[in-house]
Amino acid sequence: MYAELLKNKIQLLKESGQYREFVTINRIRGQYPLATLSGKKNDQSVVVWCSNDYLGMSQHPLVTAAAQEAIQLFGVGSGGSRNIGGTHKHYNRLESSLADWHNKEAALVFPTGYGSNDATLQCLLRLLPDCTIFSDELNHASIINGIRSTKAACAVFRHNDVSHLEELLVEQPIDQPKIIVFESVYSMDGDVSPIKEICDLAEQYNALTFIDEVHAIGMYGPRGAGKAAELGIEHRLDIIQGTMAKGIGVIGGYIAASNEIIDVIRSFASGFIFTTSLPPSIVAACNASLEHLKASNHERDVLHRKTKILREELNRAGIPIMKSSETHILPVLIGEAQKCKDAAKRLLERHRVYLQPINSPTVPVGTERFRVNVTPNHTEEQILQLKDALIEVFNHFDIVFVEQSDVTM
Ligand code: PMP
Repeated sequence: MYAELLKNKIQLLKESGQYREFVTINRIRGQYPLATLSGKKNDQSVVVWCSNDYLGMSQHPLVTAAAQEAIQLFGVGSGGSRNIGGTHKHYNRLESSLADWHNKEAALVFPTGYGSNDATLQCLLRLLPDCTIFSDELNHASIINGIRSTKAACAVFRHNDVSHLEELLVEQPIDQPKIIVFESVYSMDGDVSPIKEICDLAEQYNALTFIDEVHAIGMYGPRGAGKAAELGIEHRLDIIQGTMAKGIGVIGGYIAASNEIIDVIRSFASGFIFTTSLPPSIVAACNASLEHLKASNHERDVLHRKTKILREELNRAGIPIMKSSETHILPVLIGEAQKCKDAAKRLLERHRVYLQPINSPTVPVGTERFRVNVTPNHTEEQILQLKDALIEVFNHFDIVFVEQSDVTM
């Protein structure tokens, strides 16, 4: 009976076109963004255009060397949770370095960015009596899950709409605990939130602010510390959350905040306490990557220069980059789930371009898209090849071009 019930769930997913198939790709060290497809020869490599390794740091020699050295010295696993033997010296260095990056008193590292959102929000909402949380409608699943795992009242505001947020805030008594949770760069639309305006409202209505900077850190702001740092207003955000899996190129999540907040999360969040800590090699790699990104603008400067070139090339070709995009994330609108899948297949098989289709429920039906990310490692030749491949595939499947435009950023 159970097998039947579960099989039906999969059947429904398949019927709605939402069933996920993984493309197995093997990144080639030192040759990123090239990767091989399992079962194919090395000379049949593909160019990856949809990785969150935004700055290519997963392959940086300083980062891989740090991981290798730590494995030689400490072995592979961490051996326990943070409280029971899993706090090694690399952790202490990483947490102080992250706190310094965000101009905060302290930071706390989790095994994943997902876990850091989920565990922190769950913990705060359980500890703060009668707290209402105000959440942007496009917030990531890890934020939504953290909220839903509590009984806290949740008011969802329209995406980036500060007037709507204010309408919802006004409804609550001023002395009742409140948290506003939002992201700085939204990963599917590539747009940026009105961080300053949200901080103004938080002050006016006595709310804590929690910002997810997962898609910004490494890429924006002085020393790459993100969008709040770019505006010079980190001090107005109570909790800055990030990941080590994207711009930093490794894995792990974190929050940076005041000593009091970090101590509370460290002491009460079950998603932090009851899980094994990251291995020394991983944390050492994070340290090496973070130190490099603090000291050097090279990777982010090249990223932004190449994003500009790609954006201009696609604009000139009439490939529809969604207007929302004002960052390194370039969403290309396809608008139909099946076409998106078919186009991805043709891009891979005929053009050796790997772009994963982004379908519902990740994005609304009718806005199916490719999420294109150039990195500092992509060459200008690869950019032109991508443009030509997209033109061919758009023509083949009758996907709508937009009027050619010279819009640049
Ligand atoms: N927040 C946002 C906005 C994300 O997009 C993601 C992952 N894509 C996460 C959090 C989770 O981060 P991680 O991959 O490090 O678990």
